Amino acid sequence: MHLQGKSALVTGATSGIGQATAILLAREGARVALCGRRSERLQETARLIVAAGGTVLPLTMDVRGEGDCNEAVGKAVAEFGGLDVLVNNAGVMLLGSILNADTEDWRRMVDTNIMGLMYCTHAALPHMIAARSGHVVNISSTAGRTVRAGAGVYNLTKWGVGAFSEALRQEVHSHNVRVTIIEPGIVATELRDHITNENAKAAIETMARSITQLTSEDVARAIVYAVTQPTHVNVNEILLRPTQQAM
Ligand code: NDP
Repeated sequence: MHLQGKSALVTGATSGIGQATAILLAREGARVALCGRRSERLQETARLIVAAGGTVLPLTMDVRGEGDCNEAVGKAVAEFGGLDVLVNNAGVMLLGSILNADTEDWRRMVDTNIMGLMYCTHAALPHMIAARSGHVVNISSTAGRTVRAGAGVYNLTKWGVGAFSEALRQEVHSHNVRVTIIEPGIVATELRDHITNENAKAAIETMARSITQLTSEDVARAIVYAVTQPTHVNVNEILLRPTQQAM
């Protein structure tokens, strides 16, 4: 129970990496605010955590709205008396070529993967700085380090997450606030189900199925590792790929 007495907010806690992370953080003793759009799935995550003896605050919200992000952070702080850990995990990966792309896919990725992460961070920082303690964990991807045709705008969002996170780290380290970037390779989650370009979807599915993918729990353990280090240790970056993934 390394996080007893601590509080956390996880965006995208209705499935995949976010759900696994919320469960693991709660298992370590943290009280966890769960965020996502699908209320039923939030309740499902909440039930799992409560059944294991944890404390949760389910918050139905959309990270694309600054008001939703402010409200979610405000409610978590009010309920828990502060916010020790923010995990900016909510994301979409709508792969497809730049040429002839559906630009609505671009807006969804930029608004969710970048703006949502920035709004939540903006809302949480004053509380962390006032407490002279806090940890922002931003979920990037190997796509934040390696660019490939057919992933241009997803790459753009994850490179953006990397740049924002490093600038943030340099700004807030003197306030004792830590920043970690998590960069997973292929993880078996619902992420690919939402791809609208059928060719891009088929290609990534084939690639994913040809290897043993990471599980959400593999990534959640990396996140818990980062946030349970002594406060003088700032784990800046964790890159984890499936063993069989080349790039
Ligand atoms: P999932 O699709 O399982 O989870 C995505 C989560 O994001 C869901 O809980 C979803 O909740 C939430 N979400 C999406 N849009 C919004 C929104 N507008 N507002 C609030 N929540 C939203 O995929 P993963 O667990 O794989 O993805 C989590 C993160 O990990 C993403 O940032 C992704 O880019 C990253 N990642 C994933 C990899 C993979 O191979 N799976 C590899 C590298 C990084 P809801 O729909 O209920 O709103």
